[in-house]
Amino acid sequence: MKVLELKNIYKTYKIAGNQEFLALKNINISFDKGELVSIIGESGSGKSTLMNLIGGLDSDFQGELLYNGKNIGAFKESELVDYHKENIGFVFQSFNLISHLNLLDNVAMAMTLSNIDAKTRNKRALQVLTDVGLKDHVYKKPDQISGGQKQRVAIARALVNDPDIIIADEPTGALDSDTTDQVLAIIKGIAERGKLVVMVTHSDKVAAHSSRVVRVDNGEIVEDRDREPIHHIQEKNIEKANSKNKNLSFFSAMRLSLLNMKEKFSRNMLVAFGSSIGIMSVILMLSLGNGVTSYITDTMNSFVNPEVIEVNKPAETKDDTASENLSIQEQQQAQQAQMMNMFGGAEPFTNSDIEKLEEIEHVTSAEKGYSLTALGSNSVSYQDNETMIMQFISTSSNLMDSNLTEGEMPKEGEILVSNMLAEALNEDIIGKSIDVNIVVDEKKITESFQVSGVYESTGNAVYMSYSDIESWFSEEGVELEPNVLYLHADDADNADFIKEQVKNLGYTGSAQETMASMFTEMLDILTYVLAAVAGISLVVSAIMILVVLNISVVERTKEIGVLKALGARKKDIRRIFVSESFLLGVFGGLIGTVLTYLIGIGLNHFTNKLFDVSIIQTMPTYILSGIGISVIISMIASFLPANKAARLDPVESLRRE
Ligand code: ADP
Ligand code: MG
Repeated sequence: MKVLELKNIYKTYKIAGNQEFLALKNINISFDKGELVSIIGESGSGKSTLMNLIGGLDSDFQGELLYNGKNIGAFKESELVDYHKENIGFVFQSFNLISHLNLLDNVAMAMTLSNIDAKTRNKRALQVLTDVGLKDHVYKKPDQISGGQKQRVAIARALVNDPDIIIADEPTGALDSDTTDQVLAIIKGIAERGKLVVMVTHSDKVAAHSSRVVRVDNGEIVEDRDREPIHHIQEKNIEKANSKNKNLSFFSAMRLSLLNMKEKFSRNMLVAFGSSIGIMSVILMLSLGNGVTSYITDTMNSFVNPEVIEVNKPAETKDDTASENLSIQEQQQAQQAQMMNMFGGAEPFTNSDIEKLEEIEHVTSAEKGYSLTALGSNSVSYQDNETMIMQFISTSSNLMDSNLTEGEMPKEGEILVSNMLAEALNEDIIGKSIDVNIVVDEKKITESFQVSGVYESTGNAVYMSYSDIESWFSEEGVELEPNVLYLHADDADNADFIKEQVKNLGYTGSAQETMASMFTEMLDILTYVLAAVAGISLVVSAIMILVVLNISVVERTKEIGVLKALGARKKDIRRIFVSESFLLGVFGGLIGTVLTYLIGIGLNHFTNKLFDVSIIQTMPTYILSGIGISVIISMIASFLPANKAARLDPVESLRRE
């Protein structure tokens, strides 16, 4: 039985306007093992068309094409792929090596596509490269070698899976006469080892080396002439690696993508950088939310008694129509009053205020308090050491023993200092007498008190019982009015209800609460901004990846054609492009993480100085979700280009210049 038999083959190309072009007419020919057949003929006579049919690259024809008696035309995709991988080796005029792979990888490609392990395929590739005399060049890239060497690599690639048929379409067309001889000698050697070599050529000199010359003209065989038969030599047995029905492995696809991406490093890095901005926004958004939430919970809950509700009275706010008639100075004063009010204790409570608040359901009692907040005018001094204090405030049941870091709650004539203040005084301060200097009613007053303990809170603060403050002030001729009220709830669970009622009555909660709600508002705005940035940039990065992969498909059309000729399935091609975008996604995610980290350091440095808190608190899960989102988006974006690549027609891709 002949290796190849062509019976009544017709091939028509469909061209624009429903026209058809008959490229092959009634081809009847068969080929045997060990033949070296030269196909000659004018340009356009149908030689390449014939080669593509024989090679199984084009199954759209009429007639029968039998390989060892099996009809190729009726092959399923998987059978055709195996035919490419195992029975056919292609050699092209323009070499068609893959430029970003070294010679070893180029030659091993057919085996990589069959998922044969690296050791076996490299050994085999090295062997065939040695056979064609390129042992010393295996780690070079195709553009580092000459044309003759390139064609030898292409021949090695065609031989690597030890096929029965070698199809060479003008293999010497791009070579000078010296290298032509070398390449011809190698091709002849292949036929001598018992393989069928079908070679298209223009040159009579090349044809003269073959055992048979077939002339094609205008799509028909016009001459079939035998020449001297090839002298066969005993072929050394090559163990064929078993590769039935195996796909390109994920690992190999990743490696191929990485090698290709390395070639276009800066472009890929730019894309990854571009997509990292969206990821960064996502991670920042989550980290910021986390940081602010934990800050608020920390400050709100740890320093105060959950059963006690602090109430402040806001400064009289005039209605809008009135404020329009205010002078600029008056408006500024009102603003300042509001600012001070935010820190608590701006407006004194009247008795009717207190009665109103005591009537709220679940309130058991109201405790008077006093709070004086100022920046710069109040201080404490101990020996020569003077330190500014931000808050001078009455003790109340809002303070909890559990927050005492040292000493005890103050008794008559004693004061409590905050831990920050204790540190600032730089002394073992408990039991010592320190001077408290404050300004009330535009009057500077000073008195010495003994420190009973250190209380954990934020900022520099001095605490003294309300009655002590009252008697101290009256000595100085200042009347003390309560400007803070502490409402006691019958149960901590009712605190939220009471807070709500307090607000409904037109009072405000503690300064921390006001700050916290301001923070939450700011956070909400920031979150919206970041979410918008994240959303937009994720869409943009998806489009960017889509465009880049599309460009990549166009750039690599020929490479895809080669891969298909070597036996790549649609799945394999898709996998190469999907891994490329997977890697882009991973890189984008990693860059986004690094950017978030750097921005986080900067912002935290800033907020630590201002508020003693790290506002960006990143957790591993945020980073993972950032990278995850990045990968998912790029995979989605790769869907269209990868499919486009997978669907490319090998014959057309290879024809592309
Ligand atoms: P050769 O390799 O002998 O130079 P080809 O086999 O490439 O010739 O082409 C044979 C004929 O078929 C030419 O006239 C060419 O224009 C035509 N042809 C080849 N490919 C196509 C195609 N995809 N669509 C239409 N016509 C084609
Ligand atoms: Mg041609």
